[in-house]
Parts: sequence; C-alpha cells; structure tokens
Amino acid sequence: MLEAGGWDRDPWIHIPLGWGKILQHRLHDWGYFGEPESRLDARAIECARGKVIGGSSSINAMAYVRGHRQDYDAWADAGLRGWSYADVLPYFKRQESWEEGGNSYRGGDGPLGVRWSRYQDPLVEAYMEAGSQAGHPTTLDYNGAQQEGFGRLQLTLRSGKRCSAADAYLRPSLQRPNLHVTVNAFVERLDFEGSRCVGVTYRRRDGQTRSVRAQREVILAGGAINSPQLLMLAGIGDPAELAELGIAVRVGSPGVGKNLQDHLVAMVAYSRREPGPFQKNLRFDRIAWSLAKAQFVGKGFATELPTGVMAFIKTEHTQAVPDTQLLFHAGPLAAAPYLPPFKPAFQDGFSCRAVLLRPESKGRITLSNADPQKAAKIQWNFLSTDRDKKTLREAFKAMRAVARQPSMRQFVGQELIPGADVKSDEQIDAHIRHTAITAHHPLGTCMMGPSLDENAVVDLEMRVFGVDALRVVDASVLPGMIGGNINAAVIMAAEKAADMIRGHRQLSPRQD
Ligand SMILES: Cc1cc2nc3c(=O)[nH]c(=O)nc-3n(C[C@H](O)[C@H](O)[C@H](O)COP(=O)(O)OP(=O)(O)OC[C@H]3O[C@@H](n4cnc5c(N)ncnc54)[C@H](O)[C@@H]3O)c2cc1C
Repeated sequence: MLEAGGWDRDPWIHIPLGWGKILQHRLHDWGYFGEPESRLDARAIECARGKVIGGSSSINAMAYVRGHRQDYDAWADAGLRGWSYADVLPYFKRQESWEEGGNSYRGGDGPLGVRWSRYQDPLVEAYMEAGSQAGHPTTLDYNGAQQEGFGRLQLTLRSGKRCSAADAYLRPSLQRPNLHVTVNAFVERLDFEGSRCVGVTYRRRDGQTRSVRAQREVILAGGAINSPQLLMLAGIGDPAELAELGIAVRVGSPGVGKNLQDHLVAMVAYSRREPGPFQKNLRFDRIAWSLAKAQFVGKGFATELPTGVMAFIKTEHTQAVPDTQLLFHAGPLAAAPYLPPFKPAFQDGFSCRAVLLRPESKGRITLSNADPQKAAKIQWNFLSTDRDKKTLREAFKAMRAVARQPSMRQFVGQELIPGADVKSDEQIDAHIRHTAITAHHPLGTCMMGPSLDENAVVDLEMRVFGVDALRVVDASVLPGMIGGNINAAVIMAAEKAADMIRGHRQLSPRQD
C-alpha cells in the first residue's frame, strides 16, 4: 500500500474534538480549492481531502450515515445489478460494530466502531424537540428502518477515539506477511505493459522515484479528485481533452473526471442567551485537562463533538424521501480556548447547516497539465439548476423554522448569520451565494456502470474498462449522490470489492 501522506500519529486526528483544529488549519490535507464557482459569487471553495494514512476518514467529522435505501435502489434501477439496498445492506452490517449490537439493519462485530453521540447540553434536547414542534417526525435510528426525522447522531468512534478506515481495517492487518505500507509515496504514474496495468511509479519525499510491480492487479484508491487525475495522466479519459494536453490516448473513456457530485451546505448561526457547556469546557485549564484525558484514557469532554442531533427532512411533505439533512452544531463558529483575565471567553452560540442531499448539478475534474505534481482542477458547477437553488433555499427556510420553535426560545439570542434582516428569497439566495460551502462528499468521477458507452469508467466489479488488472475502489466509483454523508457508503463499496478481488461470492441479499 502506497500513501502520499504520512502516518496518522498526530493526536489531533484521534481526539474527536481535535477535528475543529484539523479542518480550521487544514492539517493532513492536500490543500485543494475548487475553481471559482460562477453561481457562488465566483468563490474558490476549499475542498479538504485527507493526505495521511486513513485518507479523508482520518480528518472527517465522524458522522456515521448510510443514506436512504432508495439511493441504492436507484443505482440498481440504473443498471447496477448487485447494488440495490438489499444487496448492500449485508455489507453495511459487516462493516460496523454498532454499540447496541446487531439487528436486521445493524452489524454487531465489524471493524468500524459506531456509537451514539453522548454530548450533553440541554440545547441538544431542545433542538430535537423543536424538530417535532416544526412538524418533522422523529427517528430512533436513521440508519435503520426509517431515515426521515430528527434523531440522535451516530459517530465512528471506538474507546473515545476516532475510528478511521485505518483504525478499523489497516492497523489490525499490519502484521500480515502480504502487506507492506510505504508512506510519503506520491504515486505519479500507472505503469502498463500493453493493456495490462503492471504497477505504479511513485516519488519519495527525497525526490527520488521508485517503481513497484503488482503480481495480480493494481487497486487505485486515491479518492474522487486524485483517482480520475491518475487515470487521465495514464491516457484513460476523454480523447479530445487528453490530446489538448499532449497525452497519448490509451483508452477513450469520456466519463473520467465527469459526473462530479457533492453536497452543498447553507448555514445559519445564532448567539446563545446564556453560555452553555461548550463555552464552559473551553476554558484553558479545563480543555487542557480534557484533551489529556481523551488522549490517555479515551474519556471526557474532548471525546465528543459539540453536536448530538442528526435530521433528515423533507422541504415538501409530498416528497418520497428527505431532500435535506440538518447538521446541528452546539457551539459557535469562532471558538477557542480562553483564560480570564488574560483572554476573555468567546460569545457562546450555535449553528446549523442545511445540506442539499441530491443535487442535479454536476461538475468535473480536469487536468491542469500533464504534470502529476500539479493539482487537478475541481469545477463543481454548484447550483447550476433552478431546482437545486430552490431546494437549498427551502432547506434554509426549514432550518430557520426549527430555531423559531418554542423549545428554542430560552436558548436563541440573535441570528448572527445571515441576520434577521435577510428575509426575501432574493436575500436568502444572495446569502447562499456568498457563504455556501461543500460538506466534503465529492464522488462519481470514475463512475461505475454496465458499459463504457454510458460514460461509465469502471464495471460493476470496479475494474477499469479498456485495460486489464486495474481497479478503482473509492468514492469516485459511486455513481450517484446518496442522501447522507458518504464514508459508510465508500467503506461498503470497499467491503464488496474485497470479496470481488478475492473471488468470494457476494453476501446474500437481504430478503424481506
Ligand atoms: C473535512 C471532511 C469532513 C467529512 N465528514 C464526514 C462525515 O462526518 N461523515 C462521513 O460519512 N463522511 C465525511 N466525509 C467524507 C468521507 O470521509 C470521504 O468521502 C471518504 O473518506 C472518502 O474515501 P476515499 O477512499 O474515496 O478517499 P480518501 O479517504 O480521500 O483516500 C484517498 C487516499 O489516497 C491518497 N492518495 C491520493 N492520491 C495519491 C497519490 N497520487 N499517491 C499516493 N497516495 C495518494 C490520499 O492521500 C488518501 O489517503 C468528510 C470528508 C472531509 C474531507
């Protein structure tokens, strides 16, 4: 296994509350930004991507969400035999150790630790209640029988620490004789003999290059931005675009880099009438103690994120499935440790983000040039359809409506972002254009599908069309956006791939 980043030794990766620091300072990150987005005030939006063992699962927000069952049934309807909800459910179950044990939806003894959020704050309970007061259902387990509604958040944590893909799968396998991990190895090239991918060439930190050969096959798992980049550099892509960059065409595969889909989020933020537990716990002496406790015994305040609620709602009751996710955050955006009288406490607050779950807008990844060290261009084309604009606007209104409910009155001070004077549709749209960002779920850029003709890049076993011995296994093969965060779906696809690669039968679909 070759990884461009280093080992995941940084304690901030493993202490759940360290997530804020990682994202704010873009630690262990490729440092990507998108191209200016024409419908978002020409802003170049950040596109955080993990560059470390565990990849983005080492820097993500740890929310464990599988999406809606209809997402997978839609894939199957589009020709992805073996990828319906009944087909993928056994793999979701196999991946996780759910703290409440296995049942017909949940797995009890898989590698990925999953547990409820235990964050304590009366604001969390009030927000949950506000969901009902605003007319939304509640759900006991959004990864179980019913996704729709307000429910308690679930997180990929084990023993008070982040459970990344590396913690779940790689670390327990490090003693295997057939695994050798090389870090700081930037893969620059896929190597071919005829149509067969026989290995890769990578650059080490000292600038030297090395080649490694694969006996059976090469598995590309560079993520939704880098996997299509490496394919295009190898001459697998749109022939016209490759020709423009002087890259010889190996396989004319027009779908490479296309079909980029991601979740766009709009935000609202409030001040809090009275300081809550987040502010109290961030006093310098307290947080220092909490961080030490989290690091050494996996317990205490820093083993939680200041959140607790997860909601999937419909902006119109007639819809078949929720089109919006609400990401609740029980702390202010600009929070930092303080110590009176030297540094005063920050104004306490909370925020929420509305996620446009199934955007119609599609973007693309293209090469800047034929230099593998030069980052690819990311063009999301966010909000390029009227439906997307309208849905996010309605989602924003629905999110505000929750904060107006009676149970929230004792907590809500002032609306800080965008502010109460933002009322009309035009003003809301302007706020979204000015502030919306990605929820960091890019996928679809090496789309899986039945044939090359339909812009698919890999077949239903994730083998790259047109060449031998090359597979892509990461978010780029997922063909369409799912209604939720995507880490669990990526790991589900990887679990399926593991059976395919070893020639095992796929797990039997769930029958009911
Ligand atoms: C800030 C953030 C928050 C998120 N929050 C959540 C969340 O709460 N819940 C959730 O479900 N999902 C979340 N996600 C999304 C989720 O973590 C990712 O979608 C998922 O981890 C993607 O997995 P992947 O295998 O496709 O790619 P990655 O995990 O990105 O892995 C790609 C790996 O390949 C390496 N690599 C790339 N190119 C090369 C090269 N040329 N040579 C060598 N190595 C290379 C990278 O360094 C990286 O380690 C979040 C993501 C981010 C960035």
